[in-house]
This record gives sequence, structure tokens and C-alpha cells, in this order.
Amino acid sequence: MTEGIITAAYIIASVLFILGLAGLSRQESARRGNIYAMIGMLIAIVATILASQVTSYAVIFSTMIVGIFIGLYVARKIEMTGMPQLVAMLHSFVGLAAVLIGFATYIDPASHYEGVAKTIHDVEIYLGVFIGAVTFTGSLIAFGKLQGVIDGKPLLLPAKHWLNLSMILLSVLLLFIFVDAQSISSGITPLIIMTIIAFVFGVHMVMSVGGADMPVVVSMLNSYSGWAAAATGFMLSNDLLIITGALVGSSGAILSYIMCRAMNRSFISVIAGGFGASEGMAVAKTTGDEEQGEVISITTADTAMLFAEAKNVVIVPGYGMAVARAQHIVSEIVKKLQGQGVNVRFAIHPVAGRLPGHMNVLLAEAKVAYDIVLEMDEINEDFPKTDVVLVIGANDIVNPGALDDPTSPIAGMPVLEVWDATHVIVMKRSMAAGYSGIDNPLFYKENTKLLFGDAKESVEGILSEL
Ligand code: NDP
Repeated sequence: MTEGIITAAYIIASVLFILGLAGLSRQESARRGNIYAMIGMLIAIVATILASQVTSYAVIFSTMIVGIFIGLYVARKIEMTGMPQLVAMLHSFVGLAAVLIGFATYIDPASHYEGVAKTIHDVEIYLGVFIGAVTFTGSLIAFGKLQGVIDGKPLLLPAKHWLNLSMILLSVLLLFIFVDAQSISSGITPLIIMTIIAFVFGVHMVMSVGGADMPVVVSMLNSYSGWAAAATGFMLSNDLLIITGALVGSSGAILSYIMCRAMNRSFISVIAGGFGASEGMAVAKTTGDEEQGEVISITTADTAMLFAEAKNVVIVPGYGMAVARAQHIVSEIVKKLQGQGVNVRFAIHPVAGRLPGHMNVLLAEAKVAYDIVLEMDEINEDFPKTDVVLVIGANDIVNPGALDDPTSPIAGMPVLEVWDATHVIVMKRSMAAGYSGIDNPLFYKENTKLLFGDAKESVEGILSEL
């Protein structure tokens, strides 16, 4: 394939990626956006494979076939609740790829430059490897935290900011040594040392983040993986990779900003890696056994009775709804109540579930109409006029401690103020804490009743009573 055709294919793919992103910005057009992006990726892969630099197809096709089968297997097998971990894992692959390509490009005798071109090329490699290494280990730790194999509590090493700063300064120093090196054998040592430092930096950065701040980490790693891909594009002089990486990097950065705003965290402190619980703040209590008062439980029959008498109902879905896969039955309940003239709406917190937009995806899958799915800012003022709030497997996002307990690890995070409604029904299986590991005073309020049990079984019970 000639260079001209490949360039044209890359431009078409870039436009399709941009259309894909634009489509993803609204629920109605998200499916179309995904299709654009898939077609763009297909064009990009075919054009790249047919480029003149590719001299042997055997390695490419054999690895592609293995990759296709692993991808198909994982995509079919993964539960919706495992999606965040899968995304974290995929980010780590991008990071690792950037590291490997950086090393391969550096030791490749064919990519030999002189003078300023050598300096620029070396800086590209160095940055690509650095961002890739941070993304790789950071994403692995994020995977562990989301999977629950690594403790969600923040790791608070003494002088953690100094540790981060010294790692960055050392990496800058090594950059000068690396760029100055006149041979591959003398440049490889600073590159390897920096890679190890960046691996440690990635681990430390994510380990020091508290459980409730993980959404910001997930979106930031998303952004880092984009910049790692863009840096790889510079190393390989591949324009499409630069464009794609920049799109992912900047959209991830915008998402991080939105998440920071939603959680009332400062963007600058997030970039500095010093977020999560600070040294002075109370560390999350892994409670469940620490009693704050009496909780009142309720049955599905009594819940259905409250619904029958209600005019305004708000449903607050959380991670537990995803675990129980209760969204389809919830959608049935909504139809039933609407049939009886009840005004039913959903209230979505920006960090509900384990991924940005997690709840919106589940509700869209269950064919809930978009116009009754409202964001926190749109609905928070309506709770005092609401008769019944049904909290389905949500916890941290409805924790009043965020507003009235300054020592809480989630202090300052805006939450759904469900307690202002006449009745609050919370569905959960036990008195266990939510993701951030802190107790929830909502459960002990006078107007709150707990409907214990798996959310799917509970909503099935309510539906049959209705
Ligand atoms: P939480 O994790 O705070 O609470 C989930 C609740 O669901 C728990 O109380 C749990 O209680 C209950 N639950 C779990 N399984 C079931 C089930 N099968 N049936 C009924 N109840 C169930 O979730 P929220 O959505 O309220 O908050 C999200 C949290 O996740 C926040 O802390 C956020 O920061 C964090 N996070 C969010 C990310 C994002 O991008 N959205 C990414 C990473 C973290 P029990 O075990 O007793 O049933």
C-alpha cells in the first residue's frame, strides 16, 4: 500500500475516532459512537499491517490470532461488575506496550539519529517509557484495589510527598545522563534505572489513594494510558497513534476533572499524586460491627405498600444493583408504578458503582427511559418533596457523614441527600460498609428502613407484591 493511501486511511480513522468520542457523549448516540470507533480501529489496523515497514506477516498474524481469542474469551466471560478491573488491566497493557516499544526503539540499530534529532528522539523514548511504566504498575495496583485483593485503605508512608518529589527529580537527572549518552550500552543503564523508579512511583501513587478516591485514579490512569500511546506514536513516528493517544489522554483528563469536581477534590493535588486521605485526616474505619444506634428493617410487602401510597418515588442505584444484576426487574417496577400514576425518577451520583457512567449503562441496558434518569445536581433539591426513596445497593454516595462529619474520609464529597425524603428504604445484604470502608449514619436515621437481602431477590419480591 502506498504512503498516500495509508495517510488517507489514517485520516479517515482519526475522523471516525473523533465521531466515536462525540457519539459517546450522549446515551442516545453511544451505540453509534462505538460503531464509528470500531470501524476506525479496523481501518487503522488494516492500513498499518499493509504499510511498507511490515516485512513479515507471520509474527503479526500469529500474535493477532492469540490476542483475538484471548480478547473474545475475556469479553464473553467478564461480568458487568468485573468491568472496572478489566479496564484497569487494559490500561496496564498500554503502559507495558509503551515501555517495551521504548526499549525496542532505543536498541534498534535502524533507528539511529544524530545531533538535535537524536536528543528529540531520546526524550520521546524516555518520556514514553516513564509514562508507560507509571501507567503499568499504577493500573495493576488499581486492578488489585478494585478486585479487592489489595486493601482499599490509603498507604500513608511518612513524607510521602518528599518520596514522590525525589523520584521525579531523580528521573529528571537520569534524563540528562540518558540524552548525553553516546552509545546504546551507556544509555541503557539510566533508562533501566528510571524504569524501575517509574514502576515504584506508579505503585506508590495508587497505593496512597483512599478507597473513595479511586474513581479519580481510574480516570487518570485512562488519561495516562492515552499519553503513553501518544508518546509511542512519537517514538514510532506514527501520526495515527499520536492522534489516538492524544484523544484518549485529553478525554481522560477531562473526565478526571469532572470526577474531581464531583468529589470536591482539587485537580492540582490529584496531579501531584497527593490525594486521598491526608496525614491529618481520619483513616476509614472498616466498620460493620461499630454500632451507631438501632436500625429498623422492613419487608418487601411493606415496601410495596409504601410505593402504593406514594406520588413521588426516587430510585438511587449503586454498586450493589450491579452485583445483584437487579436492573431489569427494577425497570419492570418502574413501568408498574408509572402505570399507577406514580412519578418515578432515578438519581445518579457521578461516582456510583465502580466506573464513570456505570449506572447509566446498566439502566440503558434495562431500557429505562433516559429522561427519568437524572444527575445528582438535577435531583438533589427534590428529595424533600419525595415520598419514597429506594436505595438499591448504594452506600458511600448516600452517606450524610460526607456533609456533616469533617473527620470523615469522604468529607466534602457531595452526596445524594436522600434523608430529606419522607421514607428511605435501603436495600443491602448486611451491615457491611461500602467501598470506602466507612460506616453510614443514614442507616440509623428515623425515616430510614433497611430491606435486607440480595437486591435482585428483594426487587422481585416488591414486584410480585405490587
Ligand atoms: P458502595 O460500594 O459504597 O456500596 C455498595 C453497597 O451495595 C454496599 O452497602 C453493599 O452492602 C451493597 N451490596 C453489594 N452487593 C449487593 C447485593 N447483591 N444486593 C444488595 N446489596 C448489595 O457503592 P456506591 O455505588 O454507593 O458508591 C461507589 C463507591 O465506589 C464510592 O466509594 C466510589 O468512590 C467508589 N468507586 C467508584 C468508581 C467509579 O468510577 N464510579 C471507581 C472506583 C471506586 P452489603 O455488602 O451489606 O450487601
